[in-house]
Amino acid sequence: MTRKISIHPAVDGGTKPAAAQFKGGTLTCQCAKNPVSVSIKGQCAHNHVCGCTKCWKPKGALFSQVAVVPRDNLKVTANEAKLAIVDPKAAIQRHACKDCGVHLYGRIENEKHPFFGLDFIHTELSKEQGWAPPEFAAFVSSIIESGADPGNMQAVRSRLKALGLEPYDCLSPALMDAIATHTAKSAGVLKR
Ligand SMILES: [Zn+2]
Ligand SMILES: [Zn+2]
Repeated sequence: MTRKISIHPAVDGGTKPAAAQFKGGTLTCQCAKNPVSVSIKGQCAHNHVCGCTKCWKPKGALFSQVAVVPRDNLKVTANEAKLAIVDPKAAIQRHACKDCGVHLYGRIENEKHPFFGLDFIHTELSKEQGWAPPEFAAFVSSIIESGADPGNMQAVRSRLKALGLEPYDCLSPALMDAIATHTAKSAGVLKR
């Protein structure tokens, strides 16, 4: 008997298309009392499921769901005092609620980082419908580091493909190219 593989609650039933003219929404942590709220202006980009060990994921999910927004489009609107940085030394500083553990946003403070200027968010924390859906699966092999069965990886990758989420063991080719281009420009190898 093959067990149905659950990737993430937001994609297990198939992804929903982005809404045209989507205006954004409010991310809320899981605290029943005094939740942290973060307002996002506009649509997200590069939404994907991620298998790394650092991204916040819902209980029982194999992958997280994570997207980016321009940092100027993100504003903490309630209970900011409950936020703490999970690992101040990490490139992406994940701001999590101290009470429920949910990550509200991840921010890069190093101006030389290829993704500086973008904040990482989990759109499932918002009640609004119409966020751009995940487009691919990143760091797939890394789910093993969180305890996933190495012998089940073929089934996981097949399930991701069936959902239209091409599995990669790092980021997607477009994002890897963006990182390499940034690195080449910083090193002076690429002039423009
Ligand atoms: Zn909370
Ligand atoms: Zn991740």
